[in-house]
Amino acid sequence: MSSARLTIDLDAVAANWQRLSRLSQAETGATVKADAYGLGAGPVVKKLAGAGARTFFVALAEEGAAIRQALGAGPRIFVFSGHMAGDAPSLRNLDLIPLLNSAEQLTRHAESLAGHPFGIQLDTGMNRLGMEPAEWAAVRAVGLPGAPQLVMSHLACADEPQHLMNPGQLGAFLEMTEGMTAPRSLAATGGMLLGPDYHFDLCRPGIGLYGGAPFEQAQPVATLSLPVVQVRDVEPHEAVGYSCTWVAPRPSRIATVAAGYADGLLRTLSGKAILWAGEIPCPVVGRVSMDLITVDVTELDSDPVSLDILGPRQDVDDLAELAGTIGYEILTSLGNRYRRRYVGAPS
Ligand SMILES: *Cc1c(COP(=O)(O)O)cnc(C)c1O
Repeated sequence: MSSARLTIDLDAVAANWQRLSRLSQAETGATVKADAYGLGAGPVVKKLAGAGARTFFVALAEEGAAIRQALGAGPRIFVFSGHMAGDAPSLRNLDLIPLLNSAEQLTRHAESLAGHPFGIQLDTGMNRLGMEPAEWAAVRAVGLPGAPQLVMSHLACADEPQHLMNPGQLGAFLEMTEGMTAPRSLAATGGMLLGPDYHFDLCRPGIGLYGGAPFEQAQPVATLSLPVVQVRDVEPHEAVGYSCTWVAPRPSRIATVAAGYADGLLRTLSGKAILWAGEIPCPVVGRVSMDLITVDVTELDSDPVSLDILGPRQDVDDLAELAGTIGYEILTSLGNRYRRRYVGAPS
């Protein structure tokens, strides 16, 4: 097979979940939105359920379908975007729990799915999703249409432990949930690392499960190996790739590998990324093309069959830094042309 190979280590996902779980007395769920950050929601949730996870979070009701199918009845699936217009059939048929974001969503839910479980999402300062203090106070004064399964909010700056937003949002969350008996949730991966004050009843890590910062102890999950299509000699002063951005400073050997920005290997990696032949770094030279990347392999004793862009020498955060982005974007950009191999899949 000629296509690039993406290996996803499900044992590492389970180990990361267990390690995060041990940080806290609270229940630890798993955020699996965007197809489990691009790594494949079906295999990931099956593995996590096997490891003991009972609560999952997705962004949209439609995303619940693949996850409910993989999990079967039983585990809870919460939806961050709440109850949007047209969601009622999915929420009902897939047994999903919307995290209602506004008085409007509360009304929609009460009218179209009376008696169906729901949670509440509060805005404690991020200004993205959830009810703000005044709207929430008004809603509470009128009365909720039942007991919420969960009351949650999200931290804007949890990856910066010293940021004053963290205690500010914590204080707002405590104030807004005072006197409630419903289970509460504030922490994603970053929040879990801020300590027990942030854990409440349920934590909902995402990126840490998939091997990304800020969970420094995470085991890497994704390995990406790119096959070499062609290798050539280039004379000094010859150029490589679009716009001739790289000119050989010496007689060079250039390998062309089969993946590019259409596969999520961002064009901003041009001239910056390193591909690895085992322990030996081989710099990307010239522009990243849609389907191809050119690499200087002059230092190798023999022509490589493939080169690694994600692996033990370079994890998603290393690659993200080279690309000028975050590990989340590297993972969720990984394309669908890769041949995917899952290690440690439950039978
Ligand atoms: C994405 C998301 C999470 C998970 O965040 P990580 O930083 O990946 O751990 C948790 N809660 C909400 C509301 C989210 O949007």
